[in-house]
Amino acid sequence: MADQTVITGAVLVGRDERLGRATFVAYNPATGKPLTPSFQEAELRDVEDACRLAAAAFAPFSELAPAARATFLESAAAEIAALADTLIERAIAESGLPRARLEGERGRTLAQLQFHARCVREGGWLDVTIDHALPERQPVPRPDLRRCNVAIGPVAVFGAANFPLAFSVAGGDTSAAFAAGCPVVVKGHPAHAGTGELVARALRSAVGKCGLPAGVFSYLPGAGHELGRALVADPRIKAVGFTGSRAGGLALAAIAAARAEPIPVYAEMSSINPVFLFPAAARARGAELGRAYVASLTQGAGQFCTNPGLVIAVGAGQIDAFVQAAAEALAESPAQQMLGAGIHGGFDRAVGSLLHHQAVQTVARGRSGEGENLARAALFVTDAAAFVADRTLGNEVFGPSSLIVRTAGLDEAVRLLQGLEGQLTATVLFDAADEESVAALLPRLQQKVGRILANGWPTGVEVCHAMVHGGPFPATSDGRSTSVGALALQRFLRPVCYQNLPDRLLPAAVRELNPYAVPARIDGVLTPVS
Ligand code: NAP
Repeated sequence: MADQTVITGAVLVGRDERLGRATFVAYNPATGKPLTPSFQEAELRDVEDACRLAAAAFAPFSELAPAARATFLESAAAEIAALADTLIERAIAESGLPRARLEGERGRTLAQLQFHARCVREGGWLDVTIDHALPERQPVPRPDLRRCNVAIGPVAVFGAANFPLAFSVAGGDTSAAFAAGCPVVVKGHPAHAGTGELVARALRSAVGKCGLPAGVFSYLPGAGHELGRALVADPRIKAVGFTGSRAGGLALAAIAAARAEPIPVYAEMSSINPVFLFPAAARARGAELGRAYVASLTQGAGQFCTNPGLVIAVGAGQIDAFVQAAAEALAESPAQQMLGAGIHGGFDRAVGSLLHHQAVQTVARGRSGEGENLARAALFVTDAAAFVADRTLGNEVFGPSSLIVRTAGLDEAVRLLQGLEGQLTATVLFDAADEESVAALLPRLQQKVGRILANGWPTGVEVCHAMVHGGPFPATSDGRSTSVGALALQRFLRPVCYQNLPDRLLPAAVRELNPYAVPARIDGVLTPVS
């Protein structure tokens, strides 16, 4: 058997390892130099074969007992862990992210797979609901009706550049799709092709060790749009998980909508995560909040979808201490390595247009540095009128840049909020004296965002049952769902109702003796497993 820790640049279609003409390389963003080996771009016949195998694997994989699928998720986590430092070193080379961050991200990736394994075993995701027959009911009897969720079909996953592990080959989308019972075909991100291949090999190994059909997982590396387009257009793909740019997410959603059979695309795209600073908090602890703001903003070179890109000061009279402390902290922040030339170029262009914007004042710049693809942090201030007049000021700047908007008070802050696009998060920074204003804002806030935080910072997304990492467009393409947490499985499920089927012909989940021992709603009453 091949050494799973060696990167060959191959396309991995089920059990097949396909090595042809190498066409692209990954780059070290710290040096700008290409890394070895070269990778083969998956071809259209690889897409075809991966989707055919995934379709063949769908029935046996989706029909596994929850415990067996949970074991597979745990095995996937163990195989990734076994890659040990080989994985971390390759991820450092391809992303420029520091070791501690990548070790943390690996921990999160393993924990996510293990968490979904626990969710699968517990069985709440099946949403088992049984309404027994009422043969004596007048004027007509009620039939026996049973409902549970079933897997939607093979899922295509596109990972992001900014999380080479946790939102990539074995990231949240893949983990949730597996948990729901869906085979996965991953379009590998070209920026971290080697990291992706290592993780893909680990997943293949788990598929083999668990005795699952080979088509449960395939990995298609590539550096061009044609591959992704073909994957989304393939009629055997039934849903798409995507994290990345707005342009990319929208392009894939358009392809999915134009198919003979349109399919859902769950794309997480752009968010500026507004933070509302209320006056009593600004007065009492403005300097402390200003420093904490910059710590959140500059974490990971600001390359987080939950980065606090906008602060709305509710009543600007009290924010001098906040702005001054933030400016001082930001001016001290060192230049940081970005993920690649494309992302760095985009950051510099966006900051450049803010620096030259007539209605925007530059409050501070971070330190500059010598080296490739280094981000110099930036902090800007403007007022509500200017923000409303130029909608581009509300665009995401991917990196350590943020804009503070001064408002006259709550009414103006509410008007600003109403003009914002959908967001992953919003944060309220307040003290007791602000609570009435916060209460007035909250109902409007929940129309716009997926997660509302009190007196914290949006970076950091817990993997748990209650988490929502989603939000109205363009934060995501479907604000009814989340890409992190237990609810993430629901994107890859659909409900089926069984009417009057004999018990022996029902899926095990809804049989009378509850063989999977899952919670159920029986005749309207929620019944936990005893
Ligand atoms: P991306 O450019 O959208 O790429 C993500 C994946 O989608 C890649 O595999 C890419 O493959 C594919 N793709 C992109 N556009 C496509 C298209 N039109 N047709 C088919 N496939 C397509 O995202 P990224 O590389 O992660 O980062 C680029 C920018 O996205 C960043 O600068 C940032 O602005 C934004 N971003 C936002 C978030 C967020 O959460 N808000 C997270 C990450 C990135 P190919 O390139 O091989 O086609």
